[in-house]
Amino acid sequence: MFKNISLSQITLILTAVIVVLNFLFLTVVYLAGATLPVSISQWLTILLIAIIPTYLLIRFLIEFFVFRKIKVIYKLIDERKQRPAFTSGEDVENTSFDKIQDEVTEWAESQKYEMNYLLKLEQYRRNFLGNISHELKTPLFAIQGYLLTLLEGGMYDENINAKYLRKAVSNVDRLRNIVEDLDIINQFESGQIKLNIEEFDLKELSSEVIDDLGFMAKERNIELQIKENVSKPLEVIADRGKVRQVLYNLIANAVKYGKKNGHVLIGFAEEDDKIITEVEDDGIGIEEEHLNHLFDRFYRVEQSRSRKQGGSGLGLSIVKHIIEAHEQSVSVNSVIGEGSVFRFTLDKS
Ligand code: ADP
Repeated sequence: MFKNISLSQITLILTAVIVVLNFLFLTVVYLAGATLPVSISQWLTILLIAIIPTYLLIRFLIEFFVFRKIKVIYKLIDERKQRPAFTSGEDVENTSFDKIQDEVTEWAESQKYEMNYLLKLEQYRRNFLGNISHELKTPLFAIQGYLLTLLEGGMYDENINAKYLRKAVSNVDRLRNIVEDLDIINQFESGQIKLNIEEFDLKELSSEVIDDLGFMAKERNIELQIKENVSKPLEVIADRGKVRQVLYNLIANAVKYGKKNGHVLIGFAEEDDKIITEVEDDGIGIEEEHLNHLFDRFYRVEQSRSRKQGGSGLGLSIVKHIIEAHEQSVSVNSVIGEGSVFRFTLDKS
């Protein structure tokens, strides 16, 4: 009944209640036979005249003790919502209690949400910084160690001088990879990367990447090829350079974590207006508990093995950024000991 009652209406009701109480009092006194200092009609006139001051007094009291405080809350909410604040108080007075409650609750909820978001960001920032310094420290200390050993006489030792220099160079490469990967992720996240959309043959691009990674597959004696059922060109519309990076990262991983003497197959399937690309290996596989985090930056299933392979834990994160920038999806299926399949979609041209 009082759901939509406003503060002005409350003032009126209180005034009416006081008047009625007065009237009842007067009736009781009259019926009790008590003598009044004034006549009934005079009393009624006084009562009628008193309505206005009573209304004003109640209004003043409510204004003073209630409105002022509500107005402060409203002003705060309005500032947050960036809408003109209630200044005269009239709008607040005519606003129902329910609406005030809704607005305050909505405001409190948004504050809570914002607070949680900021806390998450802070946590994320801390983790991110921790991860970066950890990732950079490892190759940096290795380089320092090799160079110091060389300076302290190692450079005259034929057994280690060339070897240590090569190791230092390989760690420099790793540092460079991490910094480049971070730079790409940063560009994606700050919205600086613009896609250069064009039409191209996905099958041809995959062959190029396979050629690039042939040496790596050979080292592990892995047979790396496109599935035989693909004959016609597969025209897609996307950023060729970025899709190349996606294919490179997925195929390189399939080779890195694939089985020695095993197979890595690239397959394609058409579904409505999309082409699904699959990169399949018969390697170690990934346990289910890791699958949800696989595309997080710096996430590694097995720290030491990945690092030994020169991995930064950023490759799949870049894959996800690129695919999502195309408004497409990427997913993974894996069975431990049997292998993994990574899939991503692209629009047909
Ligand atoms: P990294 O540079 O360490 O390879 P990625 O982001 O490319 O980083 O991959 C994240 C982790 O996912 C890797 O450390 C690895 O443990 C796991 N992973 C990726 N691809 C495969 C795969 N094909 N088979 C098994 N594990 C994989």
